[in-house]
Amino acid sequence: MNTRKIKETLKYQVFHHSCIPVHYSDELHLSILKREAQAFNEKNPSCDSVAQYNYVILPSGRVENLVPAGIYTAHCGLNTGEGKINNDNSISICVSANLDREKMTDLQWKALINEARYQGEHRGLKPARHKDIVATSCPGRNFPYSKLLKEMKVKKLYDDVDEKRWSYPAIEYVSRAGIMTGDEYGFRPKDPVTREELAQVIYNLERKK
Ligand SMILES: [Zn+2]
Repeated sequence: MNTRKIKETLKYQVFHHSCIPVHYSDELHLSILKREAQAFNEKNPSCDSVAQYNYVILPSGRVENLVPAGIYTAHCGLNTGEGKINNDNSISICVSANLDREKMTDLQWKALINEARYQGEHRGLKPARHKDIVATSCPGRNFPYSKLLKEMKVKKLYDDVDEKRWSYPAIEYVSRAGIMTGDEYGFRPKDPVTREELAQVIYNLERKK
């Protein structure tokens, strides 16, 4: 059952927490998660994935894609079609921390925003929490869900400017301040500037004073 491809039916991204203390190392998180999946698989012989989540966001902000997004993980119960959101039509994103007791790290928060935006924009997956599906406290009391939904609505500035690019903060600043804008091709970060474009930039700057 676990190795079944479900790509064509993916509709949701479901958020979880792992209940593992956030001060443990990334490696310890990974080994605990793998052990948990093994124990689960032993009790449920039809399940065989290496983790119960497709994506795990570790305390350092590292994102591990443990199970490819099109492959089944038993992350929200064993249901295979019942209920609006189920294991068959969703991927799982787990913030590895105990969010009932503690907060995720800043790096986890940034990685979560990036991952949730990516899954929303590129795969069209709608967000949901584990507790929206079954009776559980997961993803924990301190999971900032409404804040995340707000962040997901913030449109990416330009298609050709990666948020991880070194110049991103500067490009974001000059764009939001109206000093420089993009065009139908995007921001064109590596193109040379013409004299008339430079004139426009100086004009925009002077008018802001
Ligand atoms: Zn969960």
